[in-house]
Order: sequence, then structure tokens, then C-alpha cells
Amino acid sequence: MGKAVNPFESFQEQVDEAARYLDVDEGMLNRLKNPERILETNLSVEMDDGSIEVFRAYRSQFNGDRGPYKGGIRYHPGVSRDEVKALSGWMAYKTATVGIPLGGGKGGIIIDPTEYSEDELERITRAFAEELTPIIGVDQDIPAPDVNTGQREMNWIKDTYETLENTTEPGVITGKDISSGGSEGRVEATGRSTVIAAREAFDYLGKDIADATVAVQGYGNAGWISAKLAEELGATVVAVSDSSGGIYDEDGLSAVDAKSHKRETGSVVGYPGAATEITNDELLQLDVDLLIPAALENAITEEIAEGVEADVISEAANGPVTPDGDDVLAEKDTLIVPDILANAGGVTVSYFEWVQNRQRFYWDEERVNEELEAIIVDQFETLVEAYEEHNLPSMRVAAYVVAIQRVVEAAEQSDIWP
Ligand code: GLU
Repeated sequence: MGKAVNPFESFQEQVDEAARYLDVDEGMLNRLKNPERILETNLSVEMDDGSIEVFRAYRSQFNGDRGPYKGGIRYHPGVSRDEVKALSGWMAYKTATVGIPLGGGKGGIIIDPTEYSEDELERITRAFAEELTPIIGVDQDIPAPDVNTGQREMNWIKDTYETLENTTEPGVITGKDISSGGSEGRVEATGRSTVIAAREAFDYLGKDIADATVAVQGYGNAGWISAKLAEELGATVVAVSDSSGGIYDEDGLSAVDAKSHKRETGSVVGYPGAATEITNDELLQLDVDLLIPAALENAITEEIAEGVEADVISEAANGPVTPDGDDVLAEKDTLIVPDILANAGGVTVSYFEWVQNRQRFYWDEERVNEELEAIIVDQFETLVEAYEEHNLPSMRVAAYVVAIQRVVEAAEQSDIWP
């Protein structure tokens, strides 16, 4: 078995595997596996000391057959052209899986944001926004937050776009602060869908998430909200981690207190309410009922998968399991709720934000959460039906089969032109 750790190769393998169960000709398959276009740009930005630094940035517009390109912008030293391509492809099938009228895109800057001042980050973000302005738009391409970006960066991008275009168009970007046109419930949405999807998975297995022990890898927005909401459903969070390491207590720990500790010290490590310190790899292999990978892609490789003991994995991260890891977990009958459904709450509430921006009419949090819940529960059911009816090897394959059919249908309806 070859080891596919290039995320774009992993993504293409996932599409190929699902295509085996579909009647898709070679030309269409090629279209389904490759982005329509990619912007690659080098941003020259003045630093606080007067020097100039150059940052490489990308925006991949993967597929627009079902609507405007949609997806986040990531700030991370590990960003690469292939990573952005993969992430944009996952977005295209994510929006299709949940059935919202958007395509897929993704952007990123190769940067460790912790090494720059807030003023520098603002200039870097505005420089990228200037490059993006000709290719984004409320009906063209709608960016959003991703790893290491949030409301602050979205507000800067919105302001740069609106200033350059001499307009007010809050729907050009989602994940904004409420006062800039953001939606209630958007910050919590990724973790919320991850936990709703996990709850449905336990239900499908005839079990109750309230009885589950949970381990969460990654304690950024998606990870920590997942831990908090799992706890609210009565589950016991026994382990959490971030890039510095993890903590474990078999009697359970407090998700909120672990977050406060991280806010104060920069990491969950050292949190006094947990008995043991563990590594990220140890966390992934704990004997828990539910595992939530909420960090980066490729966390669960073939080797790690051999030691995974969880019954259910709900993927808050994008691409956390490699295709080889997937094969191992399929043999173990681990029920994986794939990223393109589990973490789709983020883009689903982004869609609600965009709808609210266009109508200039805003919903309360209760409505946002109810509409999100209905979509995730319905689409989980749709995937289960596909999985059982066609005897598919995994819920991931089921998700791709459903999503690819939706994209192909839209592509065929609009026809290929010229
Ligand atoms: N970055 C998130 C994701 O990977 C959200 C994207 C969006 O809201 O457009 O799904």
C-alpha cells in the first residue's frame, strides 16, 4: 500500500473510489478531480521595522457548478498549493453533501501568524484582499475563516473589498463579527455539526452519545466547541490536545476549564484538572467511544489507525484520515462520519449568513441552530440510505457518491460550454 500523505492525492483517491460506484465518464471524472483555476500571488508587505517581507498566497476555485465558490482562508506555515487544491475540492463536495447552493473554493497564506504583530497581520490580510478583490464577490466566490483566521481577518477583508469596490456588500465574505453583518451561531457551527453528526452515528449504532467517552484532537474553534457541546449532551470528555500535546483523565475533565487554561497559558497542557499528559498520537489511540480529530489533515495515518480504538470518529478537521488509514478503520468497522458532512456546519451557517446579508434581514440564534440541525440530520439519513442501499464500504464513500451525483447533475444541466 502506497502512503498518500499529499492531501491532494488523498482527495483524488477519495473521488476515484466513489466514482467506481457511479457511471461517470473519464472527461467528467477529470473535471471532478481538478480545480477550475488557482490564483497564486506573492504579497509584498511592509513590516513594523520598515523592512519588506514577501508572503506566498493562494486561492483555488475548485468547482462552481452548483453556485459561487465557497470556502475558508487558512494562515499556516504548512499551507501549499496542493493543500489548498485539496481543501477546495473538499469544499465542493461538502456544499454538495449538505445540499446548499454553493460551489467549492479555498485560500491560504504560508505564514506562522504568531510571529507577526496585529498591525502586520492587518497589512498582510489587506494585501491579500486586494489581490482577491477582482476574483471574489457575492455571486462569484465567498471566502470565510479557516485555521488561524476568524472574525478579525474577515472584517479586514470585507472592509478592503468594500472600499476598493465603493459598495456595501457584507455577503462577499462570511464568518464576520455580528456588528459587521455576521450570523448568530456561526462561531459554534463547525463544532455543533460535528457533535450532531456524532449523536446521529451513535443513534444509528443503537447507542446513546450521553454514555460515550470522548477524545478531541485539536483545541481551536472546532475542537473546543465540539468538546463543550459533547459535554452538554452528557458525554464524558476524557482527553483533549493541541499542537503542544494532550491531557487525559479517565474520570473526565471540564471542556470549558481546559479552554480557559489554554487562553491563559497558550496550551491545554498543564491544565490542573487532568491526571496525565499524553501525546497527540496517544490521544488518537485511546480506548474511547468517540474520537473527534479537529486539527489538520493526515492526523490518522495507516500506523495510527492500527491503534485506534474508538467506535465512532466524527471529523471536525478536513482530511484527518489518510486513504490508507481509512482502509484500516474500515476493516475494524469504525463508523466514520466524514468531514464533508461532520464539519459542514461551518459552511452551512456561512450560507445562512450570506442569505441574511442578501436579504438584510437577520435571524436569531435559535432559528440558525434549528435550521442547521435539520440539514445535518436529514443529510446523515441520506448518506445512511446510500450506504445501505448500494452496500458501500464506508460513510465517506456514501458521502462522495451522493455529492458527486449532485455536482454532475448540475454540470450536465448547465452543459459544457463552448
Ligand atoms: N473553513 C470552513 C470549512 O472548512 C468553513 C468554510 C466556509 O464557511 O465557507 O468548511
